Amino acid sequence: MTEEKMQGEARQAFLVDTLQKLLGQDSPTGFTERVVTVAEEIARELGFDAHRTNKGNLVITVPGRESGHKVGLCAHVDTLGLMVRSVTADGMLMVTKVGGPLLPTLDGEYCRIYTREGKVYTGTVLSLSPSVHVQDDAATRPRDEKNMAVRIDEKVHNKEDVLALGIAAGDYVCYDPKTVVTGSGFVKSRFLDDKASAACLLTLLWQMRETGTLPRYETYLTFTVHEEVGHGGATLPVVDELLAVDMGCIGEDLGCTEYQVSICAKDNGGPYDYDMVSRLVKLAKEHQVDYSVDIYPHYGSDVGAAWHAGMDCRAALIGPGVHASHGMERTHLDALHATLDLAALYLELA
Ligand SMILES: [Zn+2]
Repeated sequence: MTEEKMQGEARQAFLVDTLQKLLGQDSPTGFTERVVTVAEEIARELGFDAHRTNKGNLVITVPGRESGHKVGLCAHVDTLGLMVRSVTADGMLMVTKVGGPLLPTLDGEYCRIYTREGKVYTGTVLSLSPSVHVQDDAATRPRDEKNMAVRIDEKVHNKEDVLALGIAAGDYVCYDPKTVVTGSGFVKSRFLDDKASAACLLTLLWQMRETGTLPRYETYLTFTVHEEVGHGGATLPVVDELLAVDMGCIGEDLGCTEYQVSICAKDNGGPYDYDMVSRLVKLAKEHQVDYSVDIYPHYGSDVGAAWHAGMDCRAALIGPGVHASHGMERTHLDALHATLDLAALYLELA
């Protein structure tokens, strides 16, 4: 085996292992302590300085070969989720969305309920008309917040029984990501948005350590924890250029596939920096990184949050193509490698 091939295999092994570690932590927005701890430990083990901000972001500082210019890369480790809103008279949990999960896809999903006292219960997200043998509208009842609830795996008969378990409004309900990596290289899981990109950024650190390379400029890698509710990027370290790494969209008239890195030219919030986008396209072309430039119709990123918060920086967005986003997502390892390669080229690792 050539050294290059061995390096490629070692990188993929680290990438997949890291991705599974991140996906293995429940981390809806506002409940990200564990996933941040895991990311922090991985960065520290690789020999990088990491610190947390008051708001909960994890910032890893990477020294550059040149001074005078600062670069930021960010990915978010918060995910979609649910929170208990109330308990019904017959002991079901009504929930409110955290971020924008595609609720019909949650019908039948297993979940964990975390109480504020640290107890964890299991349950299932269900329609309030869950049985074809009983309800006329089992197939047709809307799958939304008003018509779905969580069935707890405890012997509860009424609201009082549930409250006695210590479950209350404001408790997080985290549904199972159902992560599977197939032999054909697909990663099927919820929350690939954006843990796939977060795993890529941590693998970038691994690559720097393995190859003894550094980025051209001082770089802050930030893992944000409020992206799914719109303000994750509001408190990033101040940089001259910011590259958000977040999922690429697939479908309709978009060009991106599950095998490519997507370069976003414009999303809901408007166009990304013209010079940076052009530079990323040029780098991908010159180095045969499989890419697609797209416009995302229903999308905002941490860049928008950073700009709205007043950061004076150029900024762009890239990320692996993710199919069925905010539902039962899927991407391919090819897309993760393409994202890693483009991010490494952008940083001018040497
Ligand atoms: Zn995202």
